[in-house]
Amino acid sequence: MATSRGRDGRSGKNIVIIDLHVHTRRHSGCSRIEPGDLIEAALNRGLEGLVLTEHGILWREDRLAVLREEAGAKGLLILAGQEITCLEQGRRKDFLIFGVARSLSGNQSPAELVAGVHGEGGVIVAAHPFKPSRLGAGYHGIGEEIYDLDVDAVEVLHPEHNEKARERAAAAAREKGIPATGGSDAHEQERLGTFATRFLDPVNSMPDLVRGIREGRVEPVRGRAGGRWHARPAGLAGPAGTAC
Ligand SMILES: [Zn+2]
Ligand SMILES: [Zn+2]
Repeated sequence: MATSRGRDGRSGKNIVIIDLHVHTRRHSGCSRIEPGDLIEAALNRGLEGLVLTEHGILWREDRLAVLREEAGAKGLLILAGQEITCLEQGRRKDFLIFGVARSLSGNQSPAELVAGVHGEGGVIVAAHPFKPSRLGAGYHGIGEEIYDLDVDAVEVLHPEHNEKARERAAAAAREKGIPATGGSDAHEQERLGTFATRFLDPVNSMPDLVRGIREGRVEPVRGRAGGRWHARPAGLAGPAGTAC
């Protein structure tokens, strides 16, 4: 296991601990995180990078540039992806998308979304595939259909994945031969970095991040305690979940 990286050791060239799943008030009405508060909160959680994955929308490059510059000066990498929900027969199937330069629509099947993302050079991660649905039975996520879908990775560590969900997600990643990731799905500052993804090679840009996922050079980690990021998902630290 790689050693943890303290604030002093962080440099723009050694960013490896990244929260791949973050929402802000700017574009996600269900989030309470002000973009202006994001940087300090992320640094306080020991994150080295984060990806804004707003619901159905990619941050505009000019707005992102302002935030990214401010963060970069403090050694924090901020990138933008998106979270897309495909609605099928009342079921919500969520995906994290990285490396596609426009906002995508959920008004298509998961298979069509996957093909579209790959056609545009991006990667697509099954977000919280086994998160129990609040609408009753089933999942708020792709569930067992993940076995039929050509996703690039599986979000195994997520605050609303209980132990059974984590095991199912990890088994799917193993059987499909694709990597597992972690993300906080933060809608409140307190949740930032409860889970994250460790990249085995430094990430300085979205192409680096896409390559890391595509090549399987990632592993999920849970929020650091005692200054370390833990690769073993022992227990859950996540506060109460979000509605979206
Ligand atoms: Zn989601
Ligand atoms: Zn989310």
